[in-house]
Amino acid sequence: MQYEIELTVAKQALRQAALLTSAVQNKLLGKDVLEKEDRSPVTVADFGSQAVVNYVLAQNFPQDKMIAEEGAAALREAENQTLRARVEEEVCGVCGLRGEAILKAIDHGKTEDPKTLSRFWTLDPIDGTKGFLRGDHYAIALALIEEGEVKAAALACPNMQAPNGEKGLLCLASENQRTLFTSLFTDGPALEAQTTNAKSFAEAVICESVESGHTSHSRAEKIRESLGVKAEPFRIDSQCKYAAVALGLADIYLRLPKSLEYKEKIWDHAAGYLIVKKAGGEVTDTLGRKIDFTTPPLLMNDLGVVASGRLDHQKLIEAVKASE
Ligand code: AMP
Ligand code: MG
Repeated sequence: MQYEIELTVAKQALRQAALLTSAVQNKLLGKDVLEKEDRSPVTVADFGSQAVVNYVLAQNFPQDKMIAEEGAAALREAENQTLRARVEEEVCGVCGLRGEAILKAIDHGKTEDPKTLSRFWTLDPIDGTKGFLRGDHYAIALALIEEGEVKAAALACPNMQAPNGEKGLLCLASENQRTLFTSLFTDGPALEAQTTNAKSFAEAVICESVESGHTSHSRAEKIRESLGVKAEPFRIDSQCKYAAVALGLADIYLRLPKSLEYKEKIWDHAAGYLIVKKAGGEVTDTLGRKIDFTTPPLLMNDLGVVASGRLDHQKLIEAVKASE
């Protein structure tokens, strides 16, 4: 099946990266990170996760371009050598890579002219940094885009639960395959994800960012009132919100722009988008338009995000529009 190899490689890459990020997050919880001399451990995890994912992709798809959040330039600066040593320590522990090879991996497939690419991967090595720092949820999000369409996606949510009850959830989807969810760290069973579609708006659960700077909580409240939604908002960091909708843990995801100037980043949405779509859901911007992935690294033609498990998406968009 087309994209099967891509998904197999993506799964391997995300599992290794998640081993690194989990280890860093656990250490981070046990001590006061702000007292450390080096830069914050989240930075170690960001660079480390990107090095690991890109290294695995580079080995399997050497020609492919990458649009990823981080770059190695900062690690080459003299004042960041302590941080670089920490990145090396963590990355070596997971995949044996050392020194310059790590910086090369971080910059693998980097391109100056992303808008011209017909095929590329996009990666957020740690999505939901604020959640990661709080010891809460975060995601590692990887998607393959061809001709402006998301063709394959892998979304790791290391602190969410797998179907076998273990900590660590992995969602996989492709153009040809419905969304599957499975255990991130072990080879457990893979189940088909299915968004909810039977509930009324009154019974719906709406998820949104924990961070009030990333979405308008007050506007979401207006929307909940107008639709008669009874439940309190389900606040969770990162693209775990897309996973929650795909698995039916939530019915709606609202990302309501705080300013018209902010442009969403492609790595914050590409993977989650396909994971929800291929679980039976709908994803548009707040005006009901198809998400446009043709303008990387930003989503220039979009205004926020509305995802739903097919709970009358059009009615939802009308309520979103009326709340402006
Ligand atoms: P979340 O965990 O859903 O709050 O989203 C985390 C993502 O929000 C990060 O990866 C950032 O790229 C993105 N972000 C940063 N500033 C903003 C903003 N002003 N509006 C929307 N998203 C933002
Ligand atoms: Mg992000």
